[in-house]
Amino acid sequence: MRRSYRVFRNCACGLLALGLIASGRVRHARRRAFEGDVVTAIYFHKPNRRLLARCIQWLKKYGYTFISAHDLLEVLYRGKTPPRGAVWLSFDDGCKELLENILPLIRKTTIPVTLFIPSGIVEGNGLFPWLHGDGPHDMNASIDNGVRDALTVAELKQVAGFPEVTIGSHTVSHAVTTNLTGEKIRFELGESKRTLESWIRTDIRCFAYPVGRFDGRENSFLAEFGYRMAATTENALINRKTDPYRVPRFSVADEIWFPEAMCNMVGVWRPAIDSIITFLRRSRRIAGRFPEVSGAHK
Ligand SMILES: [Zn+2]
Repeated sequence: MRRSYRVFRNCACGLLALGLIASGRVRHARRRAFEGDVVTAIYFHKPNRRLLARCIQWLKKYGYTFISAHDLLEVLYRGKTPPRGAVWLSFDDGCKELLENILPLIRKTTIPVTLFIPSGIVEGNGLFPWLHGDGPHDMNASIDNGVRDALTVAELKQVAGFPEVTIGSHTVSHAVTTNLTGEKIRFELGESKRTLESWIRTDIRCFAYPVGRFDGRENSFLAEFGYRMAATTENALINRKTDPYRVPRFSVADEIWFPEAMCNMVGVWRPAIDSIITFLRRSRRIAGRFPEVSGAHK
């Protein structure tokens, strides 16, 4: 994202976020996270150090209790009561910035986190296909400059040894499972689990759907390979009745300003943005019906 566009985008979104905060929506949503035995799940990709620190500080200030993937499984499978204001943090894609920007803070604050790893990208050239054009990508093709987007296998083994870290699968190649045949889904789910387990010598029980998309065909493979949980990007809180293969998570984007992140963490951002988009689409449709008013088709 170009810097000037990012500043413009963050100004506009920052204003909207301040409006949501001033309207009391963030406060009300935060209260809901402390009622009725629910768990808030928040996921990041590669937040900058300052943004992550402010998010953690804010969650602590308002009394959230950080829980691990293991604790969440206890809630989902054994009906255990989560602590008040329970929050589970995860990071998708295994980006190399985890080492310098994220894990030192996680270790210092002893907060449990889950890292969802696309095993084939980590094992191969470490390049995220979505950052390098639209064509087909060979994860094993060599790269000239040696610059990777993802951790290396050695780095992953190192971070998997930290007591705060749980490793989960994010397929082999970050493949969106809704685009795959059954056989390919089987490969992406089974092979990533097998590979990660061979590296870190621990049972891999958690999975996150790349880009949050799924169509239900994954369930039988998740069960077959012994996954206990699959995380989505659905905008909701978790409760004891949540389907373990449809665990919702609130998304916090990378380079945003903190007020927007506050709205993200309590789940009010997405509904607000969705209603603005719906409003704009409807306005455009209405304007299309009256081109002389809108100035269109002159
Ligand atoms: Zn991902």
